[in-house]
Amino acid sequence: MTMPDWGDARLGTMKRAGLWLVQVVGEGNTFTKAQLRTAFPDVAQIDRRMRDLRNFSWKIDTSREDASLDTHEQRFTQQGIPVWQPGKGTRPATATVTSSQRREILARDGYKCRSCGIGPGDRYDGTAVTAQLDIARRTMLLPGGRTETQLVIECNRCRVGGREMAADLRDVLARVARLPMIEKKMLAIWIDQDSRAFSEVEQIWADFRTLPLEAREELREALP
Ligand SMILES: [Zn+2]
Repeated sequence: MTMPDWGDARLGTMKRAGLWLVQVVGEGNTFTKAQLRTAFPDVAQIDRRMRDLRNFSWKIDTSREDASLDTHEQRFTQQGIPVWQPGKGTRPATATVTSSQRREILARDGYKCRSCGIGPGDRYDGTAVTAQLDIARRTMLLPGGRTETQLVIECNRCRVGGREMAADLRDVLARVARLPMIEKKMLAIWIDQDSRAFSEVEQIWADFRTLPLEAREELREALP
């Protein structure tokens, strides 16, 4: 079967992203977010459309899976299902999650519950109960009013508590849009690192709190 060209605009974005990886990047090579956006200038959320390939057994590593990459780089590690072939590129959201998909979702979510942060086998505070991680289906309300089922790692306790919960991405996006630019940039860094970096002033505050009274007073006097 001949492979369509990645530039063929009649194909869906995820299919084109897969073809771009195969035809332009090449298996085993790295690419940057900027290269991806340059190749797909008119596509909103091209990062997400490319990540959808992971649901089709494609292996695309970020700095989270591969420490040799920086946060702007990804590696096209392995091609999965050729989604551009007829019938291969669609999978209903309710389909069973395969064990290889399960492993991929665990890895991309950092082997921890995305709701409470607990790791597999860790004990819940003050109990002898250990956490088990599993895949939860989260109903997402998207911009434009669409809903979509997305998969996320949660522990047994959070899964039970949040079963009926729908996350409203529109609301979060609207709140992000209202942030001042400096806070948007800070948030982007936390997201890229998947952890919250403390600013210098917060770090100083933490240090200040541990100081004896005399030292605290001296520090106070150094401020306006
Ligand atoms: Zn949890």
